[in-house]
Amino acid sequence: MQTLLLATRNAHKTREFSAILGDEFAVRDLRSEPTLPLVEETGRTFVENAMLKAVAASQCFPGLVVADDSGLEVDLLGGAPGVFSARYAGERAGDQENTKKLLREIARCGSSIGLPTARFRCALVLAREEEVLGTFAGVAEGVIVSAPRGDTGFGYDPVFMPAGATKTFAEMSAAEKNQISHRAQAIRALRAALLA
Ligand code: IMP
Repeated sequence: MQTLLLATRNAHKTREFSAILGDEFAVRDLRSEPTLPLVEETGRTFVENAMLKAVAASQCFPGLVVADDSGLEVDLLGGAPGVFSARYAGERAGDQENTKKLLREIARCGSSIGLPTARFRCALVLAREEEVLGTFAGVAEGVIVSAPRGDTGFGYDPVFMPAGATKTFAEMSAAEKNQISHRAQAIRALRAALLA
């Protein structure tokens, strides 16, 4: 079994990684490494931020390290919130405040034809001892619904409805979301590379 340190303190993400990587991998995250410092996400792209997090964690952990960076791009908002997804409504903002701001900004822009198009992107970086071993990406296209629906998941899940679906991510089971999500696609690419 391979052990991976996931450079996150987000338990939702860790659960998604464990579920998709499967039994061949033991996934730990930074909740079991409280001494590792938090990294400032100063990158301009998801992959830059994932690299910062992966390389920083790999300085303190001897094995394989994976970092992810992800976020939501809304076309009507010129790609916002993008790399600022986690702190869209402010540094200390929670998921609900970020989602409220998103719906407010969309409403301010006036109507688009149909629901505003959007996508979640995920970049993963695999590193060991400060060396980047690979990068992996995933994207989930969809639309933003006009009011939150559902209570599973995290972040913008209640307002994101994937293309071709009738449910938001927050109305889907974890297994359903893992079939199609941006992170799931990137994790499956990582898994294939690790098992190759
Ligand atoms: P990160 O932890 O720096 O990658 O920040 C990602 C932010 O993007 C999260 O805090 C969420 O707001 C949003 N996000 C990324 N992936 C998802 C997802 O699968 N569902 C909902 N929101 C997500």
